[in-house]
Amino acid sequence: LELLNATNFDGYAPICFRREDFYVRRMYLRIQDCFGRPISSAPDAWIDVVERYSNDNNKTLKRTTEVIKCLNLGSYNYLGFASADEYCTPRVIESLKKFSPSTCSTRVEAGTTILHNELEECVAKFVGKPAALVFGMGYVSNSAILPALIGKGGLIVSDALNHKSIANGASGSGATVQIFQHNSPSHLDQILREQIAQGHPLTGRPWKKVIVVVEGIYSMEGELCRLPEIITVCKKYKAYTYLDEAHSIGAVGKTGRGVCELLGVDTADVDIMMGTFSKSFGSCGGYIAGSKELVEYLKYTCPAHLYGTSISPPAAQQILSAIQVILGEDDSSRGAQKLAQIRENSNFFRSELKKMGFQVLGDDDSPVMPIMLYNPAKIPAFSRECLKENVAVVTVGSPATPILLARARICISASHTKEDLVKGLEVISRVGDLVGIKYFPPDPKKQ
Ligand code: PMP
Repeated sequence: LELLNATNFDGYAPICFRREDFYVRRMYLRIQDCFGRPISSAPDAWIDVVERYSNDNNKTLKRTTEVIKCLNLGSYNYLGFASADEYCTPRVIESLKKFSPSTCSTRVEAGTTILHNELEECVAKFVGKPAALVFGMGYVSNSAILPALIGKGGLIVSDALNHKSIANGASGSGATVQIFQHNSPSHLDQILREQIAQGHPLTGRPWKKVIVVVEGIYSMEGELCRLPEIITVCKKYKAYTYLDEAHSIGAVGKTGRGVCELLGVDTADVDIMMGTFSKSFGSCGGYIAGSKELVEYLKYTCPAHLYGTSISPPAAQQILSAIQVILGEDDSSRGAQKLAQIRENSNFFRSELKKMGFQVLGDDDSPVMPIMLYNPAKIPAFSRECLKENVAVVTVGSPATPILLARARICISASHTKEDLVKGLEVISRVGDLVGIKYFPPDPKKQ
């Protein structure tokens, strides 16, 4: 205990811990209070959260567990496909029986099933590119693809708030990495102008290749990429555009085709399109889509494709079926309804939060809604108080955000009903008052 206390993380005092188990658990709390509890259900609109606590005043480490039914405002289940689905689930079960959970092999050995080929064709068609390649994990798609595309003598210009997997891929590639201010086409222009004029700092030679990396919806900001302006800058300097659509593909756009559809961008103007299946499609894995040449090249050069086990067949089937539903190929209008619902739910929740006086980041239509807490001491307070009222919210702080820009990140799903959203808003409002994060309380004179 002494050791735990001596190595504590404090400096700021969490204000809402249960006093009796404060000391024993303080090492775990930081992670726990970013939510981090086990869940014993599907990531549906409501989840079963397993809470473990000591109940004997910390004299021993004896733990009891309790399952709490919570409104889920934390999962990326944007279209509700992670719940049992009348079209997807029977097909996934069939594929599990037919292909087993794993291919037990890499794509280039015995790990390409007919499902993998079908999925790649389907993804390419869905995102509007000639070809696609799928991977077992979204994170790996970024971290392994960037090094396969660019190396020494190349330049990667990356948005300041890009995901860790992009940062990983960029730093592992050997290329020079420059960061431009978040979502700022003018700063991107300035960096490209300077870098292209100077060339490589050691050799002075022109860059072999320049790739600009952005996200469709920024995962910690809920903000849409200023893609049309970014593309204009890229074209001006003949840089390739790499777009990570983890949070936007399936979630936004009239037919779920992501930010290109939403912002009226021609997909031909985006050279490399990347996305993940762990959000809107209720599965796991990632993809890269682009020209046939790009995909052929990656098939022979990308180590994750050559040496990593292929995406699990039931996961592949889930993605295929979810895309079929989105496209209406299941002979129903459920896909269109889900897309309309996520949009309506997101816009309703965001506007209500703003009316209550919270500082909410992000743009309309985005299902990702960070509520600013700022002070990291408010992280445990916010998530614990929400949990006490059966609302599961993910809170995020350093190192995922700058230390004084802590936030609660709400993720809205098409599977939330109006009652769910109203309950969530009521609880968040009460907790917001308690924790003191309503930075823009409504002006009583205006009411
Ligand atoms: N890119 C972005 C922008 C992400 O937010 C994430 C994860 N949330 C990933 C890539 C990695 O995807 P996955 O979790 O599916 O591996």
